[in-house]
Amino acid sequence: MRCFRPPGVLFLGLFMLATVNARASDPTWLQIRSPHFRLITDAGEKRAIEVAARCEQMRSAFLMLMPKATADDPAPLLIVALRSHQEVDELAQGRGGKLRHAGIFLPGSDQTFILLDISDGPWRTVYHEYAHELLHANTSASVQMWFEEGFAEYFSTLKSSSKGIEIGEVPIGELQFLRQNGKLLRLSDLVRVNQNSDVYNHNGPLQAAFYAQSWLLVHYLFDHGLINRAQPFFSAMAAGVPLDQAILDSFRIKTEKLEQELLVYARGEKFRYFSLPAVIAGPSPDVTVENLNLVTVSALELEIHWHGRTEHSKVDAMALAADYTSLLRRDPENTAALRGLGLAYLELGEYQASFDGLRHAVQRDPNSAVNHHALARLLNAIDIAGLQDAHPEFSVEQEAQACTSLEPHFADVYRLEALALAARGNFNEAIAMMRQAIALSPRMESYELSLADLELRKHDYVPALALLHQLENSRDPEVVKRAEYFLSSDVQEAVPSGH
Ligand SMILES: [Zn+2]
Repeated sequence: MRCFRPPGVLFLGLFMLATVNARASDPTWLQIRSPHFRLITDAGEKRAIEVAARCEQMRSAFLMLMPKATADDPAPLLIVALRSHQEVDELAQGRGGKLRHAGIFLPGSDQTFILLDISDGPWRTVYHEYAHELLHANTSASVQMWFEEGFAEYFSTLKSSSKGIEIGEVPIGELQFLRQNGKLLRLSDLVRVNQNSDVYNHNGPLQAAFYAQSWLLVHYLFDHGLINRAQPFFSAMAAGVPLDQAILDSFRIKTEKLEQELLVYARGEKFRYFSLPAVIAGPSPDVTVENLNLVTVSALELEIHWHGRTEHSKVDAMALAADYTSLLRRDPENTAALRGLGLAYLELGEYQASFDGLRHAVQRDPNSAVNHHALARLLNAIDIAGLQDAHPEFSVEQEAQACTSLEPHFADVYRLEALALAARGNFNEAIAMMRQAIALSPRMESYELSLADLELRKHDYVPALALLHQLENSRDPEVVKRAEYFLSSDVQEAVPSGH
């Protein structure tokens, strides 16, 4: 419907790469850059510039509303503004997909993508999807799905004009739906909805009720000054505190009372909203527009297809490498295709071929943080394999520093630098660097696992074990498995008595 995050179960089927030949009716593709956003579009310059301007406005408004929060993207963000629902679905899922979306949020540690249909009245979708990115940068993995969607819906009604910005207005359709429905989901059911739930993945009245009630509860929390209590609530629940107790501790209200208050709140006549001064009235003067060639577009499409799936086989990676190779035949110096080919070879463990592609990409476009990050990833893999002597003139640190000078908030770069420091035995700095990665991207439980690993290697057992016990409660089964592995008897036996 509105939003989609890749739930693994939907994509375990065979990965079919889309054909990436230029089509006869290829539209003009443009790249738009504003101070904080990069967009590519086939939907025309005027509308795409307005998308960038509105994202800039929302970003500023968000920081005014939540001054302690960050609006820095944990990984470079690319917004893809398209001409139809079909283009959004095709790009996210490959051909043959059945789900329909006006917007899709695809977070990643190396790049994040927001895909948008901007053909018709797109602003609610634009704000909704960008709200997911802002939330992603500010909350841990314990956040529950109702808050994700409720927060995104809360921001989706943002209104901006030369007079000012309003945040928190009522989405009339959703409120009417709630009133006609006359009852709400029990909170015990609402907090259980996750990205694999039927309620979340199937269009219908239950899904509509979920979105509407999620919006209502987030609106209630903002209205009652409780929004900052949400993260402690999620952390408590993730640590195993029962729902009633977590609600009481965090929001100072009993569950039944909160359910009654929400019903009354939905029937109310007055919904407060925030009115903020105008930030940026129109398109920023700093917007630049350039034409994109079709090989670049095809290379980026392949990258997005790859990100849209959580499972990749060796055959997929080989097909990906073949697709990039054929793109490079058309444009041998294309940096997006060189990077894509290098990363496909990295996936295949073919380090020399990967190095050739990624080094070439960095040489061609040294101002791309994504290129430096890709090369740093490869060099990290080469280090782990003990093959660093093959390229003595290159180092993870050098590429990471090039990357952070371009994108200082790029979390994964700090992770790579931490691993490089640890490989040289410098655990204190490695741990500090890994903590920085976690601070910049608090959703990434894999970074927390890496931190625990570094602490164990430094014999800092107490914080390591505390972190691992916390990760044992993760909703991600892979994280649980890895935490349990670390907590295996070997590790436990290594803990000196008294700890
Ligand atoms: Zn959403």
